[in-house]
Amino acid sequence: MALSGVAIFKLLPKTNCKKCGFPTCLAFAMKLAQGQVELSACPDVSEESKKVLGEASAPAIRSFALGSGDKAVKMGGETVLFRHDKKFFNPSAVALNIKDNLSDDELGKKALEVAESEIDKIGQKLRIDAISIEYASNDIAHYETAVKLISGKAPDTALILNCKDPSAAGAAVKAIAERKPLLYCATDDSADAMAVIAREHKIPLAVCADGLEALSALTEKIKELGVEDLVIDSGAKTAKEIIERNTQIRRSVLKKNFKPLGYPIINFVLRDEPILETAIASLAIAKYASIVVISSIEKWKNLALFTLRQNIYTDPQVPMQVEQKVYKIGEPTAEAPLLTTTNFSLTYFIVSGEIENSKVPSWLAVMDCEGLSVLTAWAAGKFTASKIAQFIKESGVEGQVKHKELIIPGQVAILSGALEEKLEGWKITVGPREANAIPSFLKGRTA
Ligand code: SF4
Repeated sequence: MALSGVAIFKLLPKTNCKKCGFPTCLAFAMKLAQGQVELSACPDVSEESKKVLGEASAPAIRSFALGSGDKAVKMGGETVLFRHDKKFFNPSAVALNIKDNLSDDELGKKALEVAESEIDKIGQKLRIDAISIEYASNDIAHYETAVKLISGKAPDTALILNCKDPSAAGAAVKAIAERKPLLYCATDDSADAMAVIAREHKIPLAVCADGLEALSALTEKIKELGVEDLVIDSGAKTAKEIIERNTQIRRSVLKKNFKPLGYPIINFVLRDEPILETAIASLAIAKYASIVVISSIEKWKNLALFTLRQNIYTDPQVPMQVEQKVYKIGEPTAEAPLLTTTNFSLTYFIVSGEIENSKVPSWLAVMDCEGLSVLTAWAAGKFTASKIAQFIKESGVEGQVKHKELIIPGQVAILSGALEEKLEGWKITVGPREANAIPSFLKGRTA
């Protein structure tokens, strides 16, 4: 039974140490009671209290990984309805559906496309996270062969066995059990048989029913059969159904503490028309889907979905930032130019990209300004002459370059005089105001 905030408070250390991010233990207890934080956020809670808190300390939406190894995808564990309330934790996994009745060549080609889908965007590796292998052949031996083939071509990618036939599912799971595939799915008719397979191989099981009432009854039944890691499919297919049902699920779990729906959501949005499919997949990502299954992965489509997902799952309270250090762009010599900027990710990637475009190997001294861009950091007093001078002195760059010339962003040209005073013996050069002028600026210096 769920505990009240006050009951939970009694079990906390009551030191108000703030390590959990809340000002008091009582504030933390209230959030824990609402399923909006995890007990693990308090490092000082006793083992005895952990046991007593039991269910109350479990996340409202069950959290576990899809797949195994480095590319396993963590799902669930979300604590808020709206991103601006706190943040969303585990980005929706995007999965490609592949039918097993394609030729071996086509199966291999599609699996490779997924394995090679990764792109680097603002320092994050984004990729198609999973492959759903659909049992379309109605031939158990053929399905098993196709599953093995795809598994071999995409050895790190999470797999979903999209197969409603327990006999075929059982054979396929046996072949790749160590990959911890998601078994999709148990229906009212197949619940017992599918639960046996999931329990035996310790793999997650998707539960499928039409509507939330039938779905919650089925998750309760399967939980009693001993399977805890569930993914839910409410049968939503249209955009309207996806928004309505996914929102009802999230609300009922977080606001009413309704446990039978407290699981990651999967939405199949398969459409023949790629633009329509992309639009519906976007809605599912925006509205709480943990796994979105699509039918094709054209590059433009991936980019649209990855960008949306990256935006939604970026913590709005923490600017994206890179590490403070002196970066080598290309293979700079000790005579190569030395530029400086702030550690806002976007600033770093734009500036370093333009230096690369210039083909002039350079040093880029990136200063920790708490993830603020150049002008904002300057206005906030974090990118000042004294702080830049101190950073340059402590960065060790004087041991890497032979010259003493520092190129500063044109937007803070005003700092050049003060910086020359603070950095004795250094020449301060004002660089371009906009990053896109960096290539001509650097090339002009070497001409
Ligand atoms: Fe209380 Fe634990 Fe939070 Fe400290 S970390 S304020 S002890 S709940």
